[in-house]
Amino acid sequence: MLELENVTVRYDGVPAVVEVSLDLPDGEVLAVLGPSGCGKSTLLRAVAGLETPSDGAIRWDGRDLAGVPTHKRGFALMFQDGQLFNHLTVARNVGYALRIRRTRSSRVAERVAELLALVGLEGYAERLPATLSGGERQRVALARSLAVDPRLILLDEPLSALDAGLRERLAGDLREILRSAGTTALMVTHDHEEAFTVADRLAVMRGGRVVQAGGISEVWRAPADPETALFLGYARVLRGEAARVLLAAAGLPVAPAVAVRRSALVAAPDGPLTGRVVSGRATPEQVRLVVEVPGVGQVDAVSPLGLHPGPGEQVSLTVEAAKLATLPGA
Ligand code: ADP
Ligand code: MG
Repeated sequence: MLELENVTVRYDGVPAVVEVSLDLPDGEVLAVLGPSGCGKSTLLRAVAGLETPSDGAIRWDGRDLAGVPTHKRGFALMFQDGQLFNHLTVARNVGYALRIRRTRSSRVAERVAELLALVGLEGYAERLPATLSGGERQRVALARSLAVDPRLILLDEPLSALDAGLRERLAGDLREILRSAGTTALMVTHDHEEAFTVADRLAVMRGGRVVQAGGISEVWRAPADPETALFLGYARVLRGEAARVLLAAAGLPVAPAVAVRRSALVAAPDGPLTGRVVSGRATPEQVRLVVEVPGVGQVDAVSPLGLHPGPGEQVSLTVEAAKLATLPGA
């Protein structure tokens, strides 16, 4: 397994990664989630052996990797833009590392066919990268990374270059592919939905530090602080009296602060909260409202498409407890 202990990486003395400790058991997928510039790529590069930590240790199965060069670590790297060889066919891209290792050509062909099936690209062997869509190119890049059975695959924002719909679909596929290959993976991303779709475990990074780590649903249900909650996709954080009123309406015990998902409040007859609609906007699935609730302030709410209360109208709201996360004080 991979272990990071108090890893710090500096560029010309300026720390980009600060005292990061993380464990990644075999066969699991860990997503490091954080905003741009927080040190994700630097952390990944340190694990790959492309940056040297100024402090701390990176270990594999208990063995310190300091001094082990990148190509001897047995890790594979995949970037945002898969970086395929444009003059080589899909099959030759995927089999590249195997041929370098002088693998028998019949074995290369067999393994390439296996990998193309794994990533859903049977029949693409003879295509050139220029004839592929962005999603197909990333699948080829993934197959190429997996070709030599790496003990760990490092993925740097593997889906960020794709458009939203494709990214969502490919995130699900990526999860399935990593599971069925049984590969241990460390993925960094700024996209919380991508992290949640692909990974088993999550580490939230900010300003070079890991501010929270744990199982995906554990972190999701209990963000460490308001900033983390907002980064995880919660729409608002309410404090004090507003938190108290909302938690009471949800039947939950009082807490200093509560993070609220956009769809936590739902317009419905006889809900425990009542407010006045400030604005509404229809989406294909529902109407998104902003409602002014006495004692709470402005909150997001949703209502079914059939029900579209206009600005100034009174609405009653129910609260879905599962879409709230209580936060510690501060
Ligand atoms: P992320 O991948 O989360 O966007 P990075 O790891 O790329 O963040 O960068 C973290 C910080 O380190 C940033 O402030 C960035 O400007 C700095 N940095 C990254 N690479 C270098 C480098 N080669 N030289 C100097 N500073 C760098
Ligand atoms: Mg980066």
